[in-house]
Amino acid sequence: MEEEEEESRGSIGNDMEAEAPGIVIAGGGICGLATALALHRKGIASLVLEKSKTLRAEGAVIGVHANGWHVLEQLGVAAELRETAHAPITAFHDVRRQGNKITRDDQYPVRTEFRCLNRKDLIEALAKDLPAGAIRFGCQIAAVHEDPSSHGALLTMVDGTTIKAKALIGCEGTCSVVAKYLGLPPVRAIPRPVLRGFTRYPHGHPFEDEFLRLSVGEIFIGRFTLNENLVHFSVTMPDPPTELTRDPKKARGLALEDLQRLQCPAEIIDLVRESDPASLNVVTKLLYRPPWEVAFGGFQKGTVTIAGDAMHAMGPFIGQGGSAGLEDAVVLARALARAVGAGGEEMVGKAIAEYIRERRLRLARLSLESFVVGLVARSPSPVTTLACAAVSMLLGTRSHEHAKYDCGRL
Ligand SMILES: Cc1cc2nc3c(=O)[nH]c(=O)nc-3n(C[C@H](O)[C@H](O)[C@H](O)COP(=O)(O)OP(=O)(O)OC[C@H]3O[C@@H](n4cnc5c(N)ncnc54)[C@H](O)[C@@H]3O)c2cc1C
Repeated sequence: MEEEEEESRGSIGNDMEAEAPGIVIAGGGICGLATALALHRKGIASLVLEKSKTLRAEGAVIGVHANGWHVLEQLGVAAELRETAHAPITAFHDVRRQGNKITRDDQYPVRTEFRCLNRKDLIEALAKDLPAGAIRFGCQIAAVHEDPSSHGALLTMVDGTTIKAKALIGCEGTCSVVAKYLGLPPVRAIPRPVLRGFTRYPHGHPFEDEFLRLSVGEIFIGRFTLNENLVHFSVTMPDPPTELTRDPKKARGLALEDLQRLQCPAEIIDLVRESDPASLNVVTKLLYRPPWEVAFGGFQKGTVTIAGDAMHAMGPFIGQGGSAGLEDAVVLARALARAVGAGGEEMVGKAIAEYIRERRLRLARLSLESFVVGLVARSPSPVTTLACAAVSMLLGTRSHEHAKYDCGRL
């Protein structure tokens, strides 16, 4: 039933070649929907093309920092999301162990708003205020070409139909067809599976209310308490993915073997062992665009650009990928609204250039920070670790300077 409703919601204009009403957004994930909503709040129509048949919300929770909450405020959905969000996370705890020996134990407060949201709630909140027909589901873009009759783009779907777009924003994540059209190289992959899941403690969990990041040898565990009975965890496994790690229950078996071999604390082993099997999911590799590509990449051709992971995939290392995509949405919609207000399509290209100029430094810095944190996590070399620690210190990673950023009003 739900699927039928979702499909009919996006059933406008299924003809062989169609001209989109305004701006076309490729991909209806966090960034695509936030961009459509930001444009809608500014009175600008857009059409989201989403390859899935329904709204997608993979991965159970997402950590949203203060900069992301600022955007949700601007989009008018923060209040309702705070009601379903989990309690604020008030402390980080970084621990490094080698066997039974603890080589680092660093606990520090989080001074800005940082809460976990159910991804489903976030996606639904962003989609629900869009006008009927603003999202077209089951619509996978196969290729993008320049539209010879305008500065826009000609989109070819996998079923062979085409759509002309006066302006195109690629928000289709790490496998972006639009990024390819712009000439960007594919994102890079770190081939390490991440198992994620929830564990329920009917009589209350034994943990501090904090975000624990525990590194034991080559394995990384993230754990945050969502409420007194529910705990979310992630385990980044040491070896490249295999058929076994693609299956969440088998991946849990392998993760448990690694945790035992590396003498992880019993409470962590229990956390993973007792997890709800239905909540388990595996990301087989971590994808990122290197910071130098974010700093220097060509993100515009005429009235075509990109946003979100398509532009700056950064993996989970500083938990900023989603919030950075939300920021993109506000900055882009604000620039486009100014262009439309100034009266003309020819201004759209200029607005996109302005958006890229405004975002470039912020995103290069976030990408660098995430890259460096990810490198420390997987490099055994003391020289690399030292160099990365110096960069992290300069960027203020420990005090979450990145979360204090305010991208301004919509
Ligand atoms: C393990 C892990 C943990 C993370 N934790 C956090 C966190 O705590 N906080 C945080 O802020 N970020 C986190 N991130 C990053 C965050 O998940 C991403 O940055 C965010 O989801 C990107 O959103 P997006 O809309 O740009 O792309 P996506 O979420 O990938 O959405 C892209 C959409 O485009 C659609 N699509 C793809 N190709 C096409 C096509 N050809 N045609 C049409 N549609 C298409 C897809 O179906 C999808 O709906 C994490 C990432 C990982 C891997």
